[in-house]
Amino acid sequence: MGGIGSGRRPGYSGRNTTEDSLPLDIRRLQRARVLNPGRFVSWQWTVNDKVHSSIRIIADTNSLTLSYTYALRGNPAEAVNQTVWLESTPCALGGHRQWFTCPSCKSRVAVIYGTGRLFACRRCKGLAYSCQGESADDRAARRADCLRKKLGWEPGILNGPGLRPKGMHLRTYERLLVRHDAFVGVSLASMARKLGSLQGQLEVIEADSSSWR
Ligand SMILES: [Zn+2]
Repeated sequence: MGGIGSGRRPGYSGRNTTEDSLPLDIRRLQRARVLNPGRFVSWQWTVNDKVHSSIRIIADTNSLTLSYTYALRGNPAEAVNQTVWLESTPCALGGHRQWFTCPSCKSRVAVIYGTGRLFACRRCKGLAYSCQGESADDRAARRADCLRKKLGWEPGILNGPGLRPKGMHLRTYERLLVRHDAFVGVSLASMARKLGSLQGQLEVIEADSSSWR
């Protein structure tokens, strides 16, 4: 399994946009019937047919479990299991539309992003839409450095995370850390854009998830 944060290399100029950020779109999952309870699939982001990152998705009633390994460069890989709750709203013409509940801010969203350690919505990740056209690529690294300064860490995202500064509240620290990790993820993922655009591909491994619980 590829995992998130593994296999990325820095040093390429791209753009800090949502496309760099491992988007997971519930409409695609719904079309592929991944949301049906008991489904178990692997979702991959590929660049030129090479797997860039991958996660496992296990569907339960009203929730998905996203399962992957996460490693910030130079740090040991960590197994992550994140539960993301689902909501549904009725459609005007009948049926229901599904949504993610952002694990961080609890907003109802169609897309969550996997840059950084955990998935969350665009706003929580501080990401721009590509159509907004702003944000040159190293903007992500620069913004990460800004946060590093606040945290009293050595500049340069490749230096890895430091410790919580004395006197900083844990919640403040965690909020800064989430944003920092997101910027780092975007910055490193931009390397992939040199080779080709990131694309999500769906591969069904098993229909029965019982052996993975
Ligand atoms: Zn959010």
